[in-house]
Amino acid sequence: MSDADDRPTAANFVRDLVHADNEQGTFAGRVQTRFPPEPNGYLHIGHAKAITVDFELAKEFNGVCNLRFDDTNPDTEDASYVDAIIEDLAWLGYRQGEDYAEPLYASDYFEQLYLWAELLIEQGKAYVDEQPSDLISEQRGGYGNPGIESPHRDRPVAENLDLFRRMRAGEFDDNSMVLRAKIDMQHENMQMRDPIMYRIRAGRHHRTGDAWKIYPTYDWAHGQSDAIEGVTHSLCTLEFDSHRDLYDWYLTQLADAGELPHEQPRQTEFARLALTHTMTSKRKLLQLVEEGKVDGWDDARMPTLSGLRRRGYPAESIREFCAFIGVSRTNSRNEIELLESFVRTRLNKLALRRMAVLRPLEVVVTNWPTDEAGEPEVHQVELVNNPENEADGTRMAPFSGRFWIEQDDFRADPPPKYFRLTPGREVRLRGAYFVTCTGFETEDDGNGGETVTRVLVTYDPETRGGNAPDGRKVKSTMHWVSAAHAVEADVALYERLFDAEVPGEATGDVFDDLDAHSRELLTGCKLEPELADTPLGAVVQFERLGYFAHDPDQPMLFHRTVGLRDEWANIQKRKG
Ligand code: ATP
Ligand code: MG
Repeated sequence: MSDADDRPTAANFVRDLVHADNEQGTFAGRVQTRFPPEPNGYLHIGHAKAITVDFELAKEFNGVCNLRFDDTNPDTEDASYVDAIIEDLAWLGYRQGEDYAEPLYASDYFEQLYLWAELLIEQGKAYVDEQPSDLISEQRGGYGNPGIESPHRDRPVAENLDLFRRMRAGEFDDNSMVLRAKIDMQHENMQMRDPIMYRIRAGRHHRTGDAWKIYPTYDWAHGQSDAIEGVTHSLCTLEFDSHRDLYDWYLTQLADAGELPHEQPRQTEFARLALTHTMTSKRKLLQLVEEGKVDGWDDARMPTLSGLRRRGYPAESIREFCAFIGVSRTNSRNEIELLESFVRTRLNKLALRRMAVLRPLEVVVTNWPTDEAGEPEVHQVELVNNPENEADGTRMAPFSGRFWIEQDDFRADPPPKYFRLTPGREVRLRGAYFVTCTGFETEDDGNGGETVTRVLVTYDPETRGGNAPDGRKVKSTMHWVSAAHAVEADVALYERLFDAEVPGEATGDVFDDLDAHSRELLTGCKLEPELADTPLGAVVQFERLGYFAHDPDQPMLFHRTVGLRDEWANIQKRKG
């Protein structure tokens, strides 16, 4: 159990709603939700919220949650996105055969949707409009501006049916005509001003191929797909609030005609997830990928689930974060540091402690003993794998007369309160010995200054294991890696991909806030030999430096997941 599991249950108004439904016997106590991604990009952290809301609600009420691909636009969708979504969903913890049956596809309902559209035409509730699309949207009017009725609005039913069938047959060009619902051009809700139900698209669909020339709009497809599947609670984000009237209108027409196989589903909206320093628009994430600003959808800086996975975020910590922030109807932006605090809490329990030196500086022990062959002795020292979990035990690490420390851990000329290695100062090497600095070597840095190339120390053999028998104290414990035994790795350090808290807030263009130096790749980092066996994708703690994830594909590449400091706690303190 992590600390996160002990936090109180967050407010979730959707859960309250379901309780109320059950008390009143709405939907006969049935709870069915769906997660409806459009396969036009990868899942991101925002989707994680929708996923947990949909799946956890169904779980809590012994209901069903479907994975339904909302694949109604052949121009932007692709089968590769379908596969990635299924994979990322499984990683997050929602698997086919366990959490949902088979993936469902709105495209499987194209025929039924088509038949229902014909029904609306026959009832005089839909018509074919061949005006250009910009004129149609202009005629929609606006708040306080009246709508203008299309000259084709009162086309006879037979003519509408004929045109619609010929649209399906592929007789007309893209964008040359649409099918519109005939509702009310003066409705106060713009969505109700004769919305478009079908468009002509020549593109090839990733599942239905060339079978269809016309494609349903989101509004026409969504509620009807819910009804076909028997969804009860159709949960979506707040921007669909204004679509609810239309959602209900379509379903009511079909219910009145006796067409619905189940109770009429109901749409409920909740606030989107937004995070500081984070952009979660699939379209713009695609732009980052296409313009090469990142390595791909699964770049460790991306807020996609596959990016976060590469970065080393445990799936549990993402679920815990989503549970913690709860579900409401108020839009707000959460601090990315809050998400990171869940990641850190998890990793603190899970991650094995290891030693790694990212910017190495060589240290030589001038009084180090040699063996009979004249070689420097190698001492094995015992180190704790994880102080948070005794069961993880200990490991041995080799220590010898030459080792690496961080460049930052030595100062020839120390500032005040610098307690690490400096001339004359004694420090502890974690688990090994006390060493005292006796000198250092430099070389000309080519800029009129000097660079320290090597530090000289003596060690105290009495302090093996890192404690002095005489009880004397040192102010600093440092990590180290034996030079003769180190394995080398590349380590990627990250800044925020967007340096502004709210990307795009200042100029209106999120890309203006892109940090061009969000990744620093360090090569030739020195790692303790044990780290050569780190499984791909595993996360370890490099002592004093943070949590680092072994790349899932490339051996000996590590990504810094998060640092050790709880920045969220600091933010909370600052806010008082
Ligand atoms: P994007 O704006 O990134 O393209 P989308 O809403 O178009 O997102 P879909 O694939 O249609 O992406 O979304 C599937 C589901 O995930 C929808 O129910 C949508 O409301 C939800 N969702 C998308 N982004 C967020 C978010 N930031 N917070 C909560 N839910 C989200
Ligand atoms: Mg969408």
